[in-house]
Amino acid sequence: MIPFNKPYLSGKELQYIGEAVNSMKISGDGIFTKKCHDFFESNFGFKKCLLTTSCTDALEMAAILIDIQPGDEVIIPSFTFVSTANAFALRGAKIVFVDSMTNHPNMDVSKIEALITAKTKAIVPVHYAGVACEMDEIMRIASNHNLYVIEDAAQAIDSYYKGKPLGSIGHLSAFSFHETKNIISGEGGMLVINDSKFNDRAEIIREKGTNRSRFFRGEVDKYGWVDIGSSFLPSDIIAAFLYAQLEHIHQIQTRRKNLWNLYYSGLQKIANTGKIHLPEINSNATNNGHMFYILTESFEQRTALINYLKDCKIYSVFHYLSLHVSPYFSDKHDGRELNNTEQFEQRLLRLPMFYELTEEQVMYTCETIEKFYESGSN
Ligand SMILES: *Cc1c(COP(=O)(O)O)cnc(C)c1O
Repeated sequence: MIPFNKPYLSGKELQYIGEAVNSMKISGDGIFTKKCHDFFESNFGFKKCLLTTSCTDALEMAAILIDIQPGDEVIIPSFTFVSTANAFALRGAKIVFVDSMTNHPNMDVSKIEALITAKTKAIVPVHYAGVACEMDEIMRIASNHNLYVIEDAAQAIDSYYKGKPLGSIGHLSAFSFHETKNIISGEGGMLVINDSKFNDRAEIIREKGTNRSRFFRGEVDKYGWVDIGSSFLPSDIIAAFLYAQLEHIHQIQTRRKNLWNLYYSGLQKIANTGKIHLPEINSNATNNGHMFYILTESFEQRTALINYLKDCKIYSVFHYLSLHVSPYFSDKHDGRELNNTEQFEQRLLRLPMFYELTEEQVMYTCETIEKFYESGSN
């Protein structure tokens, strides 16, 4: 069986967890949390990083930080994971969904400006499959209309836009270290703060609305309740696992990108027949080997292919169910058709992608897909 995903252990995870435990400081912001923050700040030039218990939490922190009030509007792609929208919905925001591009699930920036009203407060680009959204244009629109930009960079570690690391461009950004991502800690995430006016309040929100971080730095002589907040910081045990992964980021990324390239060349022949489409990455963006997907010709063809692959012991998966027609949101949506989003919902298929996937397994998967199309069962 070729699974869809398999978490990779780089080797020192358990050793570092042991060190964290032995340090007897196993709640948040211990030595490994500091090491992870330093790693990101020095390797990616992020101004300030705060580990969180998930990307979802980092997005929730962002929504609190930009002071979302009931009725504020936030522009978000419909083709994304629920957390991108839910974090803002939790604070009473009205979610305004924007369509994807025709050739990529990322938001179509040419459709943003028509959605802006006096109540719009933020744009939340999602770098799907780690491929950069058109950030110059998004930042230009945001600055013209006085909006915040929150990057959902959950899938975008070590990926770039015109040479700049994703996560370093918006006012705030959120990363995920969920076990399905490139660099993992089981559950885990990070808020990146690129606008320093958010620094102090972010620490407070992350520490249950208290100024405890300042207290531990000796900047105040007692700490108490100073704002709203929640428990957004992870245990140092989680950070220990994460740090072991970060030490191998180069190796992990190289491997994943090699596998991605192998899929891309292995599927070229069948793509040339027009039966499937391969991912497109524009020249401003990079590939970080997060995900390999194909687009089938139709929903029916995708279902048949998933079943065919399963019979050949290969697990493939699809996502997302478009949020604008979801059971929670459909009666709140303004009725606009988001045709590109729906195309990706129906036709996008993700193939197995994980560090320990072998070249043989990739080739076998490519050959199996070829056989499916040659067998005429589609
Ligand atoms: C994985 C993912 C999330 C959620 O990450 P968690 O760490 O599981 O909360 C949010 N947005 C996108 C685009 C994701 O892929």
